[in-house]
Amino acid sequence: MYGDYDGPNKADKGKRGGSCNRTRCQDSPANYWNHGSYSWYCAGCAIDIGQDHVNLRGWMNEGYPKVGHAMFETLEQMREREAKMPQLTTLAEIAEQTRAIRMARREQIKNSATRIEEVLEVKEPRRFEPKKPPRKRKMIRH
Ligand SMILES: [Zn+2]
Repeated sequence: MYGDYDGPNKADKGKRGGSCNRTRCQDSPANYWNHGSYSWYCAGCAIDIGQDHVNLRGWMNEGYPKVGHAMFETLEQMREREAKMPQLTTLAEIAEQTRAIRMARREQIKNSATRIEEVLEVKEPRRFEPKKPPRKRKMIRH
């Protein structure tokens, strides 16, 4: 518990599953990662530090908007959160597929336009000229 310890720093201080990173605590196990200080803390200190109104306000103003999760997380919580990440890959894949469909559709439109021009025997690419009457087909004389 914080305040109980007054010895030298333990070798595993601030390490995962080791001793709490708080110098006056250094309780085991340190299972809570602090995304602000990049160290592991015991459950009691994670609550103490995480719920401290100044820290909490700071995290909610600066940390949370950037990362979208709590200041302290267990490894399991981080894994659970990261397990949801493949959705981003899925979204990227959907975007990729959408782009492929759009390009295929554009190609299809281009090809069908070419076919229309072939049918109409128009050699120049069609332009947007709404006021001109449609070009008359040449009559072949015999
Ligand atoms: Zn602690």
